[in-house]
Amino acid sequence: MKLGIMGAMPEEISGILDMLDDRVRRQIGGREFWEGTWSGLEVVAVFSRLGKVAAAATATVLITHFHVDHILFIGVAGGADPELSLGDVVVARDLIQHDMDASALPMFDRFEIPLLGRSRFAAHASFRDKAIKAAQLFFDHDFDGVVSKQTQASFAIGTPKVATGLIASGDRFVSDAAYLESLRAVLPDLRCVEMEGAAVAQVCFEFSTGVTVVRVISDRADHDAPVDFPRFTAEVASVMTKGIAKQFLYLLMLDLSTH
Ligand code: SAH
Repeated sequence: MKLGIMGAMPEEISGILDMLDDRVRRQIGGREFWEGTWSGLEVVAVFSRLGKVAAAATATVLITHFHVDHILFIGVAGGADPELSLGDVVVARDLIQHDMDASALPMFDRFEIPLLGRSRFAAHASFRDKAIKAAQLFFDHDFDGVVSKQTQASFAIGTPKVATGLIASGDRFVSDAAYLESLRAVLPDLRCVEMEGAAVAQVCFEFSTGVTVVRVISDRADHDAPVDFPRFTAEVASVMTKGIAKQFLYLLMLDLSTH
């Protein structure tokens, strides 16, 4: 079992790199891929840079060059569900590209990926369950130790939740409540918006590789997002992505050792 771990920004992946043993760096396509191990599990970790093209290119290298069996994407996102607050976690059930629209042509629906005949890509079911459990274990056992009560209070974090559902990706930082509402009107199960997950999911679908996407809510994708996002990313994102990834690796290792 070889796991690829991706984040879009250094803040999302730096904590994870710290956990890897026997790290070897390889530079491909302007990106640094770090091969290493975590308790014997083979891991390749990389930060892709932002947006769908960067994420798709990086996922393709993880699959075709490093031969990973599964990709875990972990990072931050704008909440699209009014039930979600900063610090909550969304694990994708499925993913869609909200800026894909060839519907001016009569043969395509809005969001449909032309010639693939689908708009949604499913996450790997049993890995998704592991990611949900990993985030819950992180909140139950680790969160208060790595994010101070003061920092939690400054982001109005109460008891953080773990949710699952639809994640929408697009090449746009959403900071517009009206746009978000228009998406929610046609995608009622939408949980959060970000800029990479569905691109990785499309590549994984095309290469028959499993995908898991975990997102920590950093903002509400509204006019406050440009303020909330950088502060949350700087102060909280890295410790949360590291903590959740660690629990995920732990659950994966337990599973592999019992099968
Ligand atoms: N200011 C950043 C740019 C970040 S873009 C920089 O200087 O590098 C936002 C990143 O966080 C993307 O990787 C995206 O996946 C995620 N994200 C968080 N909130 C988002 C939102 N409201 N809309 C879209 N993407 C968001």
